[in-house]
Order: sequence, then C-alpha cells, then structure tokens
Amino acid sequence: MAEVLLKVSDLQAFYGESHILHGMNLEVGQGEVVTLLGRNGAGKTTTLRAIMGMVGQRSGSIAFEGTETIGLPSNKIARLGVALCPEERGIFASLNVEENLLLPPVVKPGGMPLEEIFDLFPNLKTRLKSQGTKLSGGEQQMLAIGRILRTGANLLLLDEPTEGLAPVIVQQIGAVIRKLKEKGLTILLVEQNFHFAATVSDRHYIVEHGRVIDMIPNAEVETQLDKLHTYLGV
Ligand code: ATP
Repeated sequence: MAEVLLKVSDLQAFYGESHILHGMNLEVGQGEVVTLLGRNGAGKTTTLRAIMGMVGQRSGSIAFEGTETIGLPSNKIARLGVALCPEERGIFASLNVEENLLLPPVVKPGGMPLEEIFDLFPNLKTRLKSQGTKLSGGEQQMLAIGRILRTGANLLLLDEPTEGLAPVIVQQIGAVIRKLKEKGLTILLVEQNFHFAATVSDRHYIVEHGRVIDMIPNAEVETQLDKLHTYLGV
C-alpha cells in the first residue's frame, strides 16, 4: 500500500448511551479509493462522521497525515484537509448552485478551481443560477461533491454517493471518482452497492457491528462473491 494517509485504530464511538463503534481499525493509503461495505446499521456512516469529528463521544486513535485528530473539533479536522460529503448531501435549498459551491471555506491551498469542477460536472455550469430545490438528485450529488473539492481537502469521505440515483448517473459518479483518483485525491467511500464499489475502489473493508471484520482487495471481488453475499445479506 502507498504511504498511509489515514489510520484509524481501536475507534470507539457512542451516541448517548448507545455504543456504536467497537474497535474500528482501518487504513487508507495516499491516493487510494477504499470502500466501507456492510449491512444497514453496521456503523459505516458513524465511522465517517467520527473521522470528521462529528461524533461527540469517541476514543481510540484517528491519525491523519500522522496528526492525531481524535480530540479535535470538526472545523480543525477540516482545516487539516478532510471533507465529508454526507448521505443527505446538505444542499442549501434557498441558494443557487454557484452560491452553494462558494459556501464552504477553502481550507487548504490547492482547492480545485471552479472551472476544473465544471470540467468534471458540466451540468453544474449550465445550472449555475438554479436553486438547490430545482436540482435533480444526481445534480445535487454532483454539487455536493463539487463543493468539497473546492475546499482543497485531500481526503474525501463520501457517504453513499450513488444512493437513489439512476444507473446512468451512477456511471457518471463512478467516472468522476476514477478521475479524482487520477488527480491524486484519496477517497473513503461508504457504499451499499458493491457492484458499483468494485468499479472504483482498490480495497473493500467489511463492517459488521461497529468493527471491520474483513478486507477484500478489489482484484479478489470476483473470486470472493459468495463471501461478500453472505456478509452483505444479498
Ligand atoms: P446505513 O446504511 O443504514 O446508514 P450504517 O452502516 O451507515 O448503515 P450507521 O448510520 O453508522 O450505520 O448507524 C449505526 C447504528 O447507530 C445504527 O444502529 C443506528 O440506528 C445508530 N445511530 C445512527 N445515528 C444515530 C444517532 N444520531 N443517535 C443514535 N443512534 C444512532
């Protein structure tokens, strides 16, 4: 694996009294695309939220570029170069595409210029003055990804970017993720659809009951399909 960019060790996370992550361990190398796969409620979203500093009660270690982030608030973690694209996308309905894109602060030099974002998502350019509410699900997802690219983050946490989208849009999102990898970005992706994950990811962690129970390199997905079906209950 390439140089480790993110190393999560023995991560525990709680929502109130509920103990959700029970010793999560994972690593993401510089420039890798890595998936978290698992059944509903396994703790995948909570893992991304904990890495982003959005789960109040957490312990263990989350090292990003060698810096321990477990005690840091999310704004400080963002400034180190981590960005989360949440499952609900977080598009501001009353703002137009341009305003949504310009909203988050650029936290690191090297944030993607708008023109480069439009090269990835030509639809956004034609919809620049359209309000968030007027966008299709696919356009909202593109806007949500475009918005975090502007910040300059080099670790992107993408939570189910293909959820609810038509197959043609899913293909477009896949093409964008591959281009982002070519540009050197590192991506940790939560997916329900492992057929999609297999088109973009280098490795897949299987999450069950708040911990990683297996890791499958993408090259082995075809030969480990039965195992994957069992893990995912499909
Ligand atoms: P899904 O695909 O269903 O989102 P997931 O693997 O991402 O699954 P999480 O969303 O991380 O799972 O949820 C893990 C557990 O934490 C679930 O039992 C869920 O009900 C619980 N949970 C999630 N968010 C909260 C919250 N804000 N307060 C309390 N419990 C929560």
